[in-house]
Amino acid sequence: MNCTACGKALGRDETGLSRKLISRAARDCYCLDCLGKRFHVSRAQLQEMAEHFRRAGCTLFT
Ligand SMILES: [Zn+2]
Repeated sequence: MNCTACGKALGRDETGLSRKLISRAARDCYCLDCLGKRFHVSRAQLQEMAEHFRRAGCTLFT
């Protein structure tokens, strides 16, 4: 899967965060940079969020 905005190849955290932040059924996924711009958060915050969801056992991140 690639970022809908910039075309960059996405990792699991990026697709997982896109689903969490936009919609579980989202077809459009974004890279950390584009998610950050869209939601006005830093890359570091997004990485922390991914880590938090993973620790909480969210299946999107395992
Ligand atoms: Zn992007």
